[in-house]
Amino acid sequence: MKTGILNRYYADLPESYLFSTIARKIDSYRQSHPGADIIRLGIGDVTRPLAPAVIAAMHRATEEMADVAGFRGYGPEQGYEFLREAVARGEFAPRGVDLAADEIFISDGSKCDVANFQELFDRKCRVAIPDPVYPVYLDSNIMAGRKNIVFMPAHAGNGFQPEIPKHSVDLIYLCSPNNPTGTVLTRETLTAFVDYALRHGALILFDAAYAAYIQDDSLVHSIYEIPGARACAVEFRSFSKTAGFTGVRCAVTVVPHELAELRRMWLRRQTTKFNGVNYIVQRAAEAVYSPEGREQIRATIAGYMANAAAIRRGLTEGGWTVCGGEHAPYIWWELPEQETSFAFFDRLLETCEVVGTPGSGFGSCGEGYFRLTAFGEPDSTRRALERIRTRLK
Ligand code: PLP
Repeated sequence: MKTGILNRYYADLPESYLFSTIARKIDSYRQSHPGADIIRLGIGDVTRPLAPAVIAAMHRATEEMADVAGFRGYGPEQGYEFLREAVARGEFAPRGVDLAADEIFISDGSKCDVANFQELFDRKCRVAIPDPVYPVYLDSNIMAGRKNIVFMPAHAGNGFQPEIPKHSVDLIYLCSPNNPTGTVLTRETLTAFVDYALRHGALILFDAAYAAYIQDDSLVHSIYEIPGARACAVEFRSFSKTAGFTGVRCAVTVVPHELAELRRMWLRRQTTKFNGVNYIVQRAAEAVYSPEGREQIRATIAGYMANAAAIRRGLTEGGWTVCGGEHAPYIWWELPEQETSFAFFDRLLETCEVVGTPGSGFGSCGEGYFRLTAFGEPDSTRRALERIRTRLK
C-alpha cells in the first residue's frame, strides 16, 4: 500500500493515547516487580456493579427477545422513544429544562459522540478547547485536519474556569464537571460563554458526562439552564459514570430544535454511520430513572464521593493543595514545583505502588498537577492515601 493515501493528519497526533502510555508503564513495572501490590487511582473507570433495577430490566428485555412477539431487530438510529422520553423526564425536566424526545439522540457512548460531532463542521473552522481537559476533543479535531485550535487555560489563578478566547472562534468545547480538574463551571462562566457564542455565531459542545456527581442543587447541571443556550449549544450526557455503564455503553446527545440544520445533519450522520444501541441496553438505561434505580444509583455515587472526600482530606492533611472531588469523581493534585507530572507518576509508582494520571496528559496547563480518581474500592483508596502520607515526601 502507498503511504501517500493515508490520512496525513494522524501524523500530527501525540505519539500514543495517554492511557495506553500509562498502561505500558504499569506493565513494565509489574514485570520488574513480580507480586507488586499496585493500587490504581488512575483510569476513570467505575468499579461498582450495575444497580439491581438495571439488571432486572436487562433480564426482562432479554426474555422479551426470546419469542417472536417480543423480538426486536434494528431499532431507530436515534434511540427508542421510551428511552428518549425517560431521559427528557428523568434527566432534564427536574432541572427545569424542557426537551422534546426528538431533540435527544441515544448512542453507545459519549466518547464517540464528542469525537464524531466535529464531522459536521468545516475543516477550516476555529476551535476553542479548555486546557486541561479530556483529550478526545483535541485529538478528534487533529485527526480531521483542523489546525486553527486555540486553548482556553484553566488554572488556580482563574479558579479553573477556562478563559473566553480573545479572538472569534466557531466551536467551543466545555466540560463540566471537568475531567481532569474536577471543577464545575459557574453560572457566571457559562452565561459568559453562551453570550459569547450567541454574539459570534459559535456553537458550544457541552460535555456533562459527570453531571450526576454534582452535590449542590444550585450549581448548573445542564447548559440549557442558561438562557439562550438552546440556540447555541449541544449537550452530551453518558450513563457510563452516572450508572456504571462503561462496559454496557449508552449515552445521550441533545441537539435542540433551535439548531434545526445541525439536528438534521446529526440525524443524517447517525442514520448513515450508526445502527442504534441494542434494545436490552436501552431498557437497562430506562431503569436508571425508575424510583428504585434512582435510589440505587444515588447510593453508588455517594460511595464514590466518600472516596473523593477521603482523598481530599488525606492529601490536604498531608500538606498538599488539591481541588475537585466535591462535585466530581476527580481530584486535581498540585505537585511540588520542580517535578514534572510524568516524573511524579514514576516516583509515586515506585515509592507507593499507587497509580494516578499525569496532568500534562490533559494539556500543557495540566503540567504540575496529577489526577486521582474516586472510582476505587474504599479500602484500597484508604490504603493508597496511607502509603502516600507515610512514604512520599
Ligand atoms: N466525556 C468525558 C469528559 C469523559 O471523561 C468520558 C470518559 O471518561 C467520556 C466523555 C466518555 O464517556 P463514554 O463512556 O460514554 O464514552
